[in-house]
Amino acid sequence: MKERIYTIPINEAFDQDTECALCVCERKLENDALDYTIGPSMMEPDSRVETNRTGFCTEHFTKLYNLQQNRLALGLVIDTHMVEQLEHLEKLYKKQADAVKKESEKGLIGSALDSLKGKGSSSQRLIDDLLEKLTALEGTCAVCDRITNNMERLIENTIFLYDTENDFKRKFLASKGFCLKHFKQLLSAARKELSGGRQAEFLKSLLPKELSELKRIQDEVNHFTKMFDYRNQSGDWKNSRDAVPRSIEKLCGPCELKR
Ligand SMILES: [Zn+2]
Ligand SMILES: [Zn+2]
Repeated sequence: MKERIYTIPINEAFDQDTECALCVCERKLENDALDYTIGPSMMEPDSRVETNRTGFCTEHFTKLYNLQQNRLALGLVIDTHMVEQLEHLEKLYKKQADAVKKESEKGLIGSALDSLKGKGSSSQRLIDDLLEKLTALEGTCAVCDRITNNMERLIENTIFLYDTENDFKRKFLASKGFCLKHFKQLLSAARKELSGGRQAEFLKSLLPKELSELKRIQDEVNHFTKMFDYRNQSGDWKNSRDAVPRSIEKLCGPCELKR
């Protein structure tokens, strides 16, 4: 088994009364990754090579900025990231610049003749190259990468704890189940980490738990909707007042809902 560095945070998250203990873990890993990015990361050449290449997704650029901490570090990280990306874009443009210029001077008839000869247009190629580059950049984020890697290990550790420690297994089974995102990650880790009877035992516990918790929250949302019926004006909301945001979190995993 790999390192078990997550034993303490996992246990602490499963001690909380929450719709998904792994969401609690992921939020913590996200905060750590954000702090790391504007903290130690900027002094590490390897991390800078990484952030220069990947940049951040919109959500994490926003969160990094909104932290309002270490603005110099964020500025330095953005500066070298932009230098690198500008170089890439300039290179793509320079490769086709002369051909595009010639094409622009040919006019309509010249271009029509070229396309009749089956000659692909340079401006088309330039657009394709730029779109490919920009799409790739859109899909990379150093914070997302860090969370994904650490979360994968954390989920493996969770399964290991379930499999080896009875106290933890009890906590796991007493929890409110998991959001669909982490339910999926648990299943995929179980496929990798457990085999034979241990895998079956895990599924035998996880599935009834998860399904009954999903049913519970669906009942709560249903109760919430019924409370808008005038006949229920003086009825009891029970646990349903925040059933909608809880159900969204159950379906999506960590999200930023106004509560
Ligand atoms: Zn979750
Ligand atoms: Zn991200």
